[in-house]
Order: sequence, then C-alpha cells, then structure tokens
Amino acid sequence: MSDDLESGNCSECGIAYALPKEFRAARRNDHKPFMCPNGHAQHYPQETEADKLNKRILFLLKELETAKTELASEKARADRNFNLAHALGKTS
Ligand SMILES: [Zn+2]
Repeated sequence: MSDDLESGNCSECGIAYALPKEFRAARRNDHKPFMCPNGHAQHYPQETEADKLNKRILFLLKELETAKTELASEKARADRNFNLAHALGKTS
C-alpha cells in the first residue's frame, strides 16, 4: 500500500494531521465533513471547477427549456394564424 498523504491543520484547534490525497480530493468535490483528530468537523466549502460547471449546465438546461416552451407557443400561434388565413381565403 502506498498511501499518498497530504497534511493539513484543523481550522479549529490547529492540530496537524495527514489524510490520503484521494480522501482529500473526494472531500473537496463532495464538501462532506470529516473530523480532525480532536473531533472538530472540517470541510471544504470552496466551489470546485466541477461545481461551477454543473451549475452552468443546470442554468443552460433551464434556458433551453424556456426557449423550447416559447418556440412551441410561437409555433402554435403561427399555425392558428395560418389556419385562419387559409379559412378566410376559402370563404372569400
Ligand atoms: Zn481540531
């Protein structure tokens, strides 16, 4: 086993501790809390690049949904206008 350790300090009591790099990386991504050796909860509140991209994707998906809805109602209105024009054309 060759655990690559990364050291850090507790933000509460300042005790130095080391954690596997993968563990730290995972906590940076999921922001889940973990304990210092003295039992203080630690977590990484910073937004990661992945978090930012996820937010951006969700925003863009919402924009896309709005655009689709608008397009559908515009299309329905155009159809109604077309049918109306067609009907008027027939009767006159
Ligand atoms: Zn602590």
